[in-house]
Formats: sequence, structure tokens, C-alpha cells
Amino acid sequence: MKFLEYQVKERFKTAGIPVPEGRLARTPDEATRAAGALGPIAIKAQVPVGGRGKAGGIKLARTPAEARVMAQDVLGMTIKGYEVQEVWCETLVEIARELYLGLTLDRDQRLLVLILSAQGGMEIEDVAAQHPEAIARLHPDPWRGPQPYEIRELIFGAGLGPLQAALVPLVMKLYSLARTLDGITVEINPLAVTQDGGLVAADGKLEVDDNAIFRHKDLVGAEEAGEDPLEAEAKRRHLTYVRLDGTIGVIGNGAGLVMNTLDLVQQQGGRAANFLDIGGGAKADVVHNALELLAMDPRVRGILINIFGGITRGDEVAKGIIEARRDLGLKLPLVVRMTGTREAEGRKLLEAAGVAPEVTATAAARKIVELASRG
Ligand code: GDP
Ligand code: MN
Repeated sequence: MKFLEYQVKERFKTAGIPVPEGRLARTPDEATRAAGALGPIAIKAQVPVGGRGKAGGIKLARTPAEARVMAQDVLGMTIKGYEVQEVWCETLVEIARELYLGLTLDRDQRLLVLILSAQGGMEIEDVAAQHPEAIARLHPDPWRGPQPYEIRELIFGAGLGPLQAALVPLVMKLYSLARTLDGITVEINPLAVTQDGGLVAADGKLEVDDNAIFRHKDLVGAEEAGEDPLEAEAKRRHLTYVRLDGTIGVIGNGAGLVMNTLDLVQQQGGRAANFLDIGGGAKADVVHNALELLAMDPRVRGILINIFGGITRGDEVAKGIIEARRDLGLKLPLVVRMTGTREAEGRKLLEAAGVAPEVTATAAARKIVELASRG
């Protein structure tokens, strides 16, 4: 589960990680007042994705009048599919230099890894690709945690020796915050070095392990705000759903088949809007439920259903599709590929209802990409 920047910064603050003073604004008026109280501010779109700067979701305002105009601009913007409903207004940091400090799960090593780089402000993946030497890593022992000498090694490894006095305690605090919150990603990018040599977290990202959320009842209120509404809705419906960036809704049974279907859509020049696995043995009501969920997503321009019938029966799936189309008044292009158990019965039902099933998954993907691009 991901949190919004201002929520993360509240956590940073209580953990003793320096952050600029800030206020949340939902209207240009509130942003104007924030600038009146704080002086020059950064106005930052609160959406649970990175790259807000590049998308125009971060503006620097020197005066309350500027803050009003800029907040007007940013509020209501859409960034990577998220509408900006709030901006975080915080004291402008005079940044001399941008560093990167983060902690994430290294799945290969099965350990948390601390990452420090003198090249901050850009995506760490890009730094890793272009300047691998500019990144230093530390895999702390999970029981002992990172030791000061190891942290100093990390700091010198990143070429940041002169900042060690300020960096050692900061890394310690970030690590213990991550452990306390069951964080699987905690990131400060940029970690700003100010004109006077101080360190300030200019940005904050936090992703908490979903399997550990039950241990953090205090975060759950905040959970709602950062959670994607469709993912929340999917959870209520007990569907396995992941939001993606594209326009083609994808439904399949079994994680492997769904991932394969995403690849096929991509190969045909389309982009999937989601991953949705209805699992094995799904009955008509589950299919209905899944289609209803996709119909709620305004980004979806077409739906591809790919079913391999083992314990899932083709006729059940067909019934679900037909009922859902009728009940929901679904106008979106819909392409079905179905094979396996009760395939013939399912096809017959679909054909009678005017939904011609495709024979191969590739043909189905090609067709939905074409139909969706017309709409
Ligand atoms: P992201 O693009 O979503 O990662 O958002 P960030 O919070 O990292 O902001 C992007 C960039 O905006 C940073 O790398 C900074 O260069 C700039 N920025 C953000 N806040 C401030 C600030 O308070 N002062 C200054 N000068 N620049 C800022
Ligand atoms: Mn950032």
C-alpha cells in the first residue's frame, strides 16, 4: 500500500527526519493562505505516483498571488490517471544539491537494501542504468540492523564522505522507520542538501507491505486516501486486481494466463488497463462482478476476456458475460477467447448473444486492440 507524500512526511517528522513545514490545500484559497503563512512555497500535487515534477505537478511560488495561480493550475490536473484533489504547500527549500536515499526489498538477496546516491532528483532506475558507479548499497543484517561503520562505508561508497556527520543518523532513522512500519519501499528523492549544508527530505515515498497492514491500524485511515479506488473496490469484491496504465481491460483465469494476455495486448500495440484474475472455477457471478468493475473504469476502451477452461467452465463464463453485458448495458467492445472445458457450449451461448469468440489468444488480442483504437 502506497501513501501520499504529505502522509509520509508526517511520519518522517515524528521519526526525526527533517522535512519542510507544510500545509495541505484543497482549493486555491487555501494555497494562497498557506503562502501567506509560510512565505515562498513549493506547491506539490498529492497523487500516489512519482514523476510529478516532470508532469507539471510541482510548482514553486514566491508570493501568495503566485501560489493562487499555480494551485489553480495543479488542482484538477490528471497525473498518470490520478486526478489531483489536494496540493501540499511547503516552505521552499533552497536546494544546493540533490541526493537519493532509499530502502527497498532486494528480492534476489531476500534482504532489505539501503541505497544511497549522490545523483538525486531523477528516477533511481535511470541513475542505475546511466551511472551505476554513482550508487552505493548496503544490505543490513536483519537482526542487528545497519551498524554505524557500515553506514559510513555506504556514505563513502557514494562519494559523500564530507556529509557523513549528518547522513549517519538520517540513515539510521530511515531504517528504523521502515522496520517499524513494515515498509517495503521508503524513499527520499531528492534528499536536499541546503545552502548551509543541512539535509532535508524534499520528497517522501512509502509503500507498506500489504500483508502487514493489519499491524498498522493507525495507518488505515490514511490508507483510504492513498489507495486506488478501483483497487479498493476490487478488494471489496474479492477480485485479484492490479491497476495498470493502458486502455484495454483484461480478464483471465489464473495469474500466468493473465500475465501472458497482458504481453499479447502489448505485442499487438495496445496497453492493458489492469490485471484481473478471476481464479479457477469462477462461476457466472464472478465474471459478472469482474466486468462490472472494469465498466467503472473510465479509461477502459475495450475488454479482452481470456479463459482456459480447466475447472472453470466455458458455459458458466459465457453466461456471466452475457448477463453482465445485458444488466450493465455494456457498450464497450468485447472480445472473448475461450478454450477447454465446455468450450463448445460456451461458444454457442456467446454466438447466440452476438459475441463472436476468437479462436486464438493472439487473434483476440489483435482484435480488441483494433476495436479499442477505433472507439
Ligand atoms: P516527483 O517528481 O514526484 O519525484 O516529486 P519531487 O518532490 O521529487 O519533486 C521533483 C523536483 O522538484 C525535485 O527534484 C526538485 O528539483 C523540485 N523541488 C521539489 N520541492 C522543492 C523545493 O522545495 N525547492 C526547490 N528548489 N525545488 C523543489
Ligand atoms: Mn521525487
